[in-house]
Amino acid sequence: MARDIIARLKDQAGTPGRIWLQGDAPVTYADLLAETGRMANALQGLGLVKGDRLLCQVDKCEAVLVLYLACLRAGVVFLPVNPGYTVAETEHFLTDADPALAIFDGARVGEIADKCRKVIGLADFLAMASEVQDAFSDPVPKPDDLAAILYTSGTTGRSKGVMLSRENLASNAEALVGLWRFAAEDVLLHVLPVFHTHGLFVATNCVLYAGASMIFQRSFAPEAVLEALPRSTVMMGVPTFYSRLLADARLTPAACAHVRLFISGSAPLSPATHAEWRGRTGQAILERYGMTETNMITSNPYDGPRKAGTVGLPLPGVAVRIAGPDGLPVAAGEAGAIEVRGPNVFAGYWRMPEQTAKEFRDGWFITGDLGAFDADGYLSILGRVKDLVISGGLNVYPAEVEAAIDDLPGVAASAVIGVPHPDFGEAVVACLVGLVEPEKVREALRERLAAFKIPKRVIVMEDLPRNAMGKVQKAELRRVHAGLFAGG
Ligand code: AMP
Repeated sequence: MARDIIARLKDQAGTPGRIWLQGDAPVTYADLLAETGRMANALQGLGLVKGDRLLCQVDKCEAVLVLYLACLRAGVVFLPVNPGYTVAETEHFLTDADPALAIFDGARVGEIADKCRKVIGLADFLAMASEVQDAFSDPVPKPDDLAAILYTSGTTGRSKGVMLSRENLASNAEALVGLWRFAAEDVLLHVLPVFHTHGLFVATNCVLYAGASMIFQRSFAPEAVLEALPRSTVMMGVPTFYSRLLADARLTPAACAHVRLFISGSAPLSPATHAEWRGRTGQAILERYGMTETNMITSNPYDGPRKAGTVGLPLPGVAVRIAGPDGLPVAAGEAGAIEVRGPNVFAGYWRMPEQTAKEFRDGWFITGDLGAFDADGYLSILGRVKDLVISGGLNVYPAEVEAAIDDLPGVAASAVIGVPHPDFGEAVVACLVGLVEPEKVREALRERLAAFKIPKRVIVMEDLPRNAMGKVQKAELRRVHAGLFAGG
């Protein structure tokens, strides 16, 4: 069992002067522990008990992290929601999770109050917490107690509540801290959203577990990032952060000299971006792979080759296998469904036992991603199962075609989808952003890919539709282009 996150918080608070948040008014771990105690008391004062859900939908701010830790202390299940969701979208989480308390930014409280059991504005909650004592007697936690519910970012249909236990979070933090060599001297530049596993758990828990500190920025802005890099030792980002920084001429080896580790995840980092970053800064981005349900699964090594286009090796204690359509493991090197087992894997979908059962096979969680291991044990992600294109009966893995397209001069980003086709069943279609001519792209690909993988159509767009984590919304692309080959 890994040491509980709150036990680690208390360890860190025991070192006088240890800084958690950098800034004009630095926050120490002792301050953080006291603040979580006040908030935990305030939650109890509002009637919350162990196992109750607390929904939190506010713009990114430091208080969200404190609230997450306060919930852990009180045994309350933390349920963060993307502040970009509309009232109508948010209603689903309120109905499904039935939270005992919902905290919103002030403006939203009035719009949604009648849909919640109990609601309070963030500022009012903070004011309430500032008036209660910081001493809090923590109930003794159990490793399989529920820590949080994070909803999957399903764009269609019902988004599912992913139940994460304390041990899920702690075991993953422990593995990552060791692997990525986090230490008290580290300063993490925090520029990710805090309603998603990446910014909320990977970033925050690694820092806390190691007793490191953070520079906390409320959104990603290249200007502010470049200003903070000389004071940071680690940055975590999604691939779009890296491509946006590359577009800034001020990104130089000197600007990154103080940073020991750039980490990327949540969406595929193209080998082209990896190479460009290396050329510009002299540093190899470390790509890792994970998902809400499993926390982090694999990572490229700290020492040893960081292979572009791969997500590296399984984390210590985490088992990964590739299964064929019959559910049996495939031969080494072959593509198939990625399945995961370990202390990182979630406890199930909230109030969806049947859905949960469907996504496990003999104790292995079926991620819904396709992948293959290379001879050195590095995993490559070949796309989501539902994004696999079957054209004329042949499997086309979007990631392979995207990598070939991204490699062409003038291409900034690409997304390969399958579109209904009268002859082939599905036709490969490439949507891309860049200064290129569609016919030239097809021509260039003929030298690199087998004929059945060449896109039947190349569509140049101004931008690809992406969600908050920079993931391309392929369902949206498929919807828009569904009629491309209608009528032959
Ligand atoms: P989420 O639960 O929102 O974090 O989404 C998880 C999904 O993001 C995974 O199942 C993958 O499809 C994708 N993903 C995460 N990290 C990577 C990566 N490094 N490369 C490719 N896909 C990734």
